[in-house]
Amino acid sequence: MSTAGDSPTGCVFCDIVSETSPAHVVYSDDDVIAFLDISPVARGHTLVIPRRHSAGLDDVDPALGAPLLAAAQRVAKALKGSAFRAHGVNVALNDGRAAMQTVFHTHIHVIPRRHGDKVSFAKGLLTRRSGDLAAIGTELRAEIAAQR
Ligand code: 5GP
Ligand code: ZN
Repeated sequence: MSTAGDSPTGCVFCDIVSETSPAHVVYSDDDVIAFLDISPVARGHTLVIPRRHSAGLDDVDPALGAPLLAAAQRVAKALKGSAFRAHGVNVALNDGRAAMQTVFHTHIHVIPRRHGDKVSFAKGLLTRRSGDLAAIGTELRAEIAAQR
């Protein structure tokens, strides 16, 4: 996992937006991009971020709320599709260190859930195994592209 210390700009997510750092991007538009979390809690765990830097909830432009939510909605719908078969999703924005925010570029987590997955979810929180992100990204991109 990158840290701000490795980043040319001091923000690893700005580096992903500018394509200075690689990521498995599954969706992008003029305002937001969505990419796979490098240490997912569950297969398909995706982060949705505004292209323009803001650190957390306080300073994100409220006008970006709609595009962020719309992208999270697309990702959630894709995760419920035939390749991932999620039954639901957790959508979370960790705001501030006390809330376990570790990357200070506003982001929304979209984490797929299945009925009865409490044990594997808890295990995922602890192990955060990446799996084959390239293959997962290909599947999720295809699901999202099929929505258009
Ligand atoms: P937070 O704890 O700040 O809400 O979540 C930050 C998330 O960003 C974590 O789930 C972490 O795995 C993910 N992350 C940190 N650095 C990188 C990176 O360089 N690339 C990607 N794709 N995800 C990252
Ligand atoms: Zn940033």
